[in-house]
Amino acid sequence: MGQYYAAVDIGATKTTASVSSRDGILARVYQLTKKRGNEATVPRQVDFLIACACQQAGIVKGQIAAVGISTVGPFEKRDGRLALAAPNVCGALGGECEGRENDWTLVPLEEELSGKYRRLRIANDCISAAVAERSFGAGRGQDDLLYVTWSTGIGGGAFVDGHLLTGKNDNALHLGHIVMSYRYADEPRCGCGGRAHLEALVAGPAIAREYGEQPPEVFRRCRNGDKRAEALIQRVARVMAIGLYSAIALLDSRLIIVGGSVSKNWDLLEPLVVTEFYKQFPALTREVVLTRSQLDQYLGDMAGLSLVMPDSWIADWQETRPWENAPETTVLDPEVV
Ligand SMILES: [Zn+2]
Repeated sequence: MGQYYAAVDIGATKTTASVSSRDGILARVYQLTKKRGNEATVPRQVDFLIACACQQAGIVKGQIAAVGISTVGPFEKRDGRLALAAPNVCGALGGECEGRENDWTLVPLEEELSGKYRRLRIANDCISAAVAERSFGAGRGQDDLLYVTWSTGIGGGAFVDGHLLTGKNDNALHLGHIVMSYRYADEPRCGCGGRAHLEALVAGPAIAREYGEQPPEVFRRCRNGDKRAEALIQRVARVMAIGLYSAIALLDSRLIIVGGSVSKNWDLLEPLVVTEFYKQFPALTREVVLTRSQLDQYLGDMAGLSLVMPDSWIADWQETRPWENAPETTVLDPEVV
């Protein structure tokens, strides 16, 4: 009898679920992440999307051996179980922002879902990306690696001596919220409310704020020789390099893997980041290699799946790379439950 595994990716905008067998990804569905209802709405949506993916794959939910969930963070624990405390999902955490869609403070993901499946593993999207990159991407065989997403937010996940770092509430390496300046008061405010956080200085919204255009347009202008865009990208790359150096000073990684939407411009960013990075303390930086994610566009499927996939599948998947031939995603109407 075949074994089936489900993978879920909960993003601030959309949530994807897929079902895989040893041969590859069988079905995949996505829907906008639900923001209205009560605190159990998102877990119920996850359960529903897994059921939809199962139906498409021609199996029933009871045949799922395990579910791996990769999600936006951070987490808090309620009664020892992981609950989402993500400001872009939980309306009550969004602070002053207008038009919030709900008054949730926590989404009890583990509490709502753990009884429904034989095995459930939940991790934030950067921790699960680090697991996926180490099994199938740019980090294969690396025991000391740091994965960093450079996107709408900044986040990280790391292995040290082959151990995945998680922490007391599974929030290890919220790199976007490290403080980059001691002169807080003058610095931009982060989405979390703090000042001078790495995310507030280099993430996509920071680039847009500084230039007045969205990041793809800023990079396009930079490529066309726009001096103001060039100066901004240089500054942002330099600050990111210093942030990465700070992480390396703590972790002693051998490899840094950079993913996320901003890093799609790695051809422009790499020389700038690398130059600044190696100017930092040579004893710590000299042997570090920086590289671009190999799984970036596939992390929606591979991050959650890598959390639960049996070890016996890994060699086959490394060879056949079935994520590259995944079926088309079925987009579900946002109103369907
Ligand atoms: Zn912050």
